[in-house]
Amino acid sequence: MSATGGPARAALIEARDVAISFGRTPALRGANVSAAAGEIVAVMGPSGSGKSTLLHCLAGILAPSSGEVHFDNRRIDTLSEAKRSTLRRDNFGFVFQFGQLVPELTAEENIALPLLLAGARRTQALTQAQEWLRRLDLDGLQERRSGELSGGQAQRVALARALAAGPKVLFADEPTGALDSLTGENVMRQLVTAARREGTTVVLVTHDSRVAAYADRQVIVRDGKATSLSSGRAAS
Ligand code: ADP
Repeated sequence: MSATGGPARAALIEARDVAISFGRTPALRGANVSAAAGEIVAVMGPSGSGKSTLLHCLAGILAPSSGEVHFDNRRIDTLSEAKRSTLRRDNFGFVFQFGQLVPELTAEENIALPLLLAGARRTQALTQAQEWLRRLDLDGLQERRSGELSGGQAQRVALARALAAGPKVLFADEPTGALDSLTGENVMRQLVTAARREGTTVVLVTHDSRVAAYADRQVIVRDGKATSLSSGRAAS
């Protein structure tokens, strides 16, 4: 542990002094956050404090106006939009509040989609999708479309879709925000179990302290700045 309660391990992904404004509204004012390989970091804070913006900067979706973002020993915020897009596709997975499954596709096809886009053969992609359905306790639901799944099931399909491509970092923005607390906790448990088994780094935005308790470390964002808290499960 460092003196600030941050991880002693090297950062896989890191925002350094990141600032960005939307018009005249500053969303981040010099925020620092990092996650080591395999670490699960929960980003908490009041609504409007800059959590989603920080996640979008880390993920290379937004380019900050000042500061730096590094991934895997490479500065990424200065890359072109096209290069950041490729980097995201090859290294990052995303889960949002509402799973954003493709409604016309079955659960199995939704999970297989990123694999197909990455060039996998259809049979191979579907076999992998079935394996992920099994891992997330979704056996028997492969033919269902998103309208035929419960909220918790749909989020687990979204999680399977994000993890099936083997991302180095999974970004999750309020993944349990639309679920009741019991279902949300179940999805979180699955997310953490799957990420730990795969060695995936997770950056998770949540306002729910029970959800954040599953993380190795908590980061609080307030007024566009981030403070790392140590926790019982922090990296040693
Ligand atoms: P949080 O995720 O903590 O709720 P956000 O990162 O979404 O906070 O927002 C931080 C601030 O930036 C808020 O004042 C919000 O209104 C503003 N903001 C975020 N995204 C945009 C946008 N696309 N356009 C204008 N203002 C935005």
